[in-house]
Amino acid sequence: MTEVKKDIRRCSKEEICSFFVSHNAPSFHGNQVYEWLWQKAAIDFEQMTNLSKAHRALLDKHFIINHTNIAKVQISDDGTIKNAVRLYDDKVVESVLIPAKTRSTACVSSQVGCSLDCTFCATSQLKRMRNLNPDEIFDQVTMLNKQSLEHFERPLSNIVFMGMGEPMMNYPNVMKAIDKITSPEGMGMSPKRITVSTSGIPKMIVKMADEYPRFKLAVSLHSAIEETRNQIMPFSTSFPLTDLQDSIRYWFSKTKTRVTYEYVVWKNINDSKAEIDALVRFCKKTPSKVNLIEYNPVGNDQFNQADDDAINQYVAALEKSHIPVTIRRSRGKDIDAACGQLANKT
Ligand code: SAH
Repeated sequence: MTEVKKDIRRCSKEEICSFFVSHNAPSFHGNQVYEWLWQKAAIDFEQMTNLSKAHRALLDKHFIINHTNIAKVQISDDGTIKNAVRLYDDKVVESVLIPAKTRSTACVSSQVGCSLDCTFCATSQLKRMRNLNPDEIFDQVTMLNKQSLEHFERPLSNIVFMGMGEPMMNYPNVMKAIDKITSPEGMGMSPKRITVSTSGIPKMIVKMADEYPRFKLAVSLHSAIEETRNQIMPFSTSFPLTDLQDSIRYWFSKTKTRVTYEYVVWKNINDSKAEIDALVRFCKKTPSKVNLIEYNPVGNDQFNQADDDAINQYVAALEKSHIPVTIRRSRGKDIDAACGQLANKT
């Protein structure tokens, strides 16, 4: 019977060391392999040139590396690069490299499709097919880092979990990937440069505050009035805004870092004075800032970007209460790479 090869990136360093010992080889080869996998992002045992040919063949006999492949690259007029990333089971996710003057931001996916049902988001129409494994998340980051070096001669400066999927619904794998991205044995990136964005699952925000209070948190709020939010983000019916508020307060008490609220203003949905007042009240409860995101149409007539006047009223009201607010223009719209547009169209 042929042995089913195990994905070596599911093994801990200790397991790889023991593998060598059990094959009468020195344990330190395990450290070398681990370094190749997580520091040098090797995708083939042949690349592991400080191992003998025999040891490379031994690895090849027992293991595989289920790495991802880029199926398609699209480059926007504004320099944004979108990748369709093919997984080992032929499923596809998208990840985006967003260059600015001096920075390169990686926007990565955490699920194939999405568990949630935000009615304004193209990804939600795909439904959730499966969670990404830690190495599939890690691969997106190393791939975008390589592209940033190639195209812009600098490594990634930031990573945002704002691609496809809800990171809190794939919590263990997202955290394992972040461990690899931040650990000195991996990419060694500062956690302060990582932002996890969630639609707002209170108990997971609390868990994350207890376990990983090191990176930044963004919450896709879009309305601070329960009825409106329940309408546009139906899943949130199970998570009252007061619970979300409490979890954010807890996050702040643990991390002492401001939460960012992602917020799109739509015509006749959340462009009223009542909505503006509710947001200001919500923001005052915990130190926070607001990112007003431009709406990217995804073929749902119900949603239209609000007038500039409404956006200006939001900005004025927030600033009056000393709540930092920025207006974020979309990037990569022409190639469907902007917020909410990731839907494997190609
Ligand atoms: N599920 C997580 C991660 C996705 S981030 C979350 O919701 O935070 C993607 C961001 O883009 C979220 O803030 C989301 O609300 C926003 N978004 C979704 N559809 C959009 C659209 N059509 N236009 C602009 N922003 C959108």
